[in-house]
Amino acid sequence: MVRELIRWKYIKSERVKKAFLEVDRAHFVPREYRDQAYYDDPIPIGHSQTISAPSMVAIMLELLDVKEGSKVLEIGTGSGYNACLLASLAKKVYTVERIPTIRDFAKKNLEKCPYRDKIIVLLGDGSRGYPPEVPYDRIIVTCGAPDIPPPLIEQLANGGVMVIPIGGTFFQELYVVEKREKKIKKRVWGDVAFVPLVGKYGHRWA
Ligand code: SAM
Repeated sequence: MVRELIRWKYIKSERVKKAFLEVDRAHFVPREYRDQAYYDDPIPIGHSQTISAPSMVAIMLELLDVKEGSKVLEIGTGSGYNACLLASLAKKVYTVERIPTIRDFAKKNLEKCPYRDKIIVLLGDGSRGYPPEVPYDRIIVTCGAPDIPPPLIEQLANGGVMVIPIGGTFFQELYVVEKREKKIKKRVWGDVAFVPLVGKYGHRWA
């Protein structure tokens, strides 16, 4: 899987390559889908949610440009796979999930993560961010928002980067948002398809 992700230039940096080699996706997919763990496809994890395709995960991690000392906020824990990859790249990871059984699934999976001590799994509406640990050097949203939730802009550190899909409940554009001296610079990477961010600053339906 990693060889293919490099061949197709989804993985570009040595750091992201190392993270992908260290974290086994098979530990994060439901048992009945284990034989598909290394396919470049999303996989259902229950409650109409998915673990994203590995190529999408790699694209987002390359855009996020996580540094060794980064404090990261992830919205949408899902399986916990991306949280474990983030923890391989960063100093500390806070990850928020809104569905309790999916949070439990992630916590169980993360017992196999070599970097589990760096990860705090939280239950709640991630569209509000997580104020107790602000500011965050990096914010990654792994579900599609109608717009950038204002609390996430506030909670991003000066010099910070956020990667977030913005658009409808099925299709979005992936944005890279940079904050410098309170100014926000946005650029679009391209079209993506994520499950919706549901919450106060998200979509209204689950
Ligand atoms: N990052 C995940 C992984 O590595 O498996 C994939 C995330 S999945 C594509 C999107 C997740 O976002 C779902 O588990 C969904 O329940 C969650 N979600 C949607 N709205 C949310 C919100 N407001 N706060 C926290 N999590 C949310």
